[in-house]
Amino acid sequence: MKYNKEVDYPLFEYLQTNVRVESAELKWFQKRLISWAENNLRDYPWRRTCEPYSILIAEFLLQRTDADKVVPIYEFFLERYPTVEKLAIAEVEALAQLMKPLGLFFRAERLSQTAKIIVGKYRGKIPESEAELMMLPGIGKYTTRAICSQAFGQASAVLDTNVARILERFFGIEGGRVKSRCKILWSQAEAIAPDTEVGSWNLTLLDFGAIICTERNPQCPQCPLSQRCHWFNSNSNLNSAGKFFS
Ligand code: SF4
Repeated sequence: MKYNKEVDYPLFEYLQTNVRVESAELKWFQKRLISWAENNLRDYPWRRTCEPYSILIAEFLLQRTDADKVVPIYEFFLERYPTVEKLAIAEVEALAQLMKPLGLFFRAERLSQTAKIIVGKYRGKIPESEAELMMLPGIGKYTTRAICSQAFGQASAVLDTNVARILERFFGIEGGRVKSRCKILWSQAEAIAPDTEVGSWNLTLLDFGAIICTERNPQCPQCPLSQRCHWFNSNSNLNSAGKFFS
């Protein structure tokens, strides 16, 4: 069937959303990445815990912010506000000052509102359901999924710009302009997640996108996925056409 992507975008989206990766291809992809992760995952303090409040704070601070910048603020933040109850009674201005080096001032107000709701509505317990988390101020789909997978061990795949880039390049997918709202990419992120250990899988994709499949300078010659990567095989002189997904 011929269609024009620009005109028939709903059809294009439907077709792409419903494409499923071949089982053998998927196993190969997962195996390579899991093996890469054994020696390459980055170590951050929020990755050494699955305590829900700590994870929630980390995910708030990490929104659109470089992880290395977050480390000292995260540790100081938890020292000063070790519980959600203490956070709920903090002045927004004090939170804003503490988070100032990270920018995005609106986060302080949203974090304060979220803490108040968790204390008032959920008796200080971070909700475990995706629907409830999504209702909290400042918590979108990515942050919700990150909390569900890292704090509660749920099989919740994530999609951020790093993950989107890997999916687009490796599988030759064309995602929408706003990756975080692209159904095609969310569907693919869910389709490729393993059945277990999705929290570790999420970290693997995040780090692989940050270290190997980077935006400006992807390390294709060293990449364990290059053999079957659509983007690499389409762009590299080292590989002739016709070898995609062989
Ligand atoms: S081969 Fe290059 S483009 Fe493909 S996944 Fe690896 S780093 Fe990314």
